[in-house]
Amino acid sequence: MAPRPFRLGRSRTGLGIFATRPIKKRTTISEYRGKMLGLDAALKAEKSGNRYLYEVNSKWTIDGAKRGNIARYFNHSCNPNADTFIRGKRVFIRTIKNIEPGDEICYDYGRDYLKNVIGLENCQCSRCRKRRAKQRAETRERNARRKKRLEAKGLTKGKAVKTTAAKKTKKSVKSRKTRR
Ligand SMILES: [Zn+2]
Repeated sequence: MAPRPFRLGRSRTGLGIFATRPIKKRTTISEYRGKMLGLDAALKAEKSGNRYLYEVNSKWTIDGAKRGNIARYFNHSCNPNADTFIRGKRVFIRTIKNIEPGDEICYDYGRDYLKNVIGLENCQCSRCRKRRAKQRAETRERNARRKKRLEAKGLTKGKAVKTTAAKKTKKSVKSRKTRR
């Protein structure tokens, strides 16, 4: 492998891996290195809080917690630009998109990890942050529209009063209609 096309840097969640030059799609850039653990040892490591375990197959897990394993710094993303592949018992990281210098390189850790370790609503990847920002903007817009509607009805006093008053108005309009 040529010298690393990436460096370790500050990311949103701590440390991450950032490209230092353009990297073509489908380039193998790193290997997930560490001690091979059998089933019992892997379970024990997991219980002790080791978050750098890569399950290679039903028998073997790589303990990638050692600092020498640079691949442990690739962060998770739900919209990744890299992925992992297995050759025998070895695990490699390769790009799945063309990558520009400065881009953070991430791969998808999988649904289980996202659900059980990161937490679905805690994911800090760019896609999840965008999704949450959009949701917040939509809520803000909805609230602004609601406020405008109420103001148009001349109900600009205290919030609690506003809501009940608005409901009452609606109801009375309805009942008048049914009466006719
Ligand atoms: Zn995400």
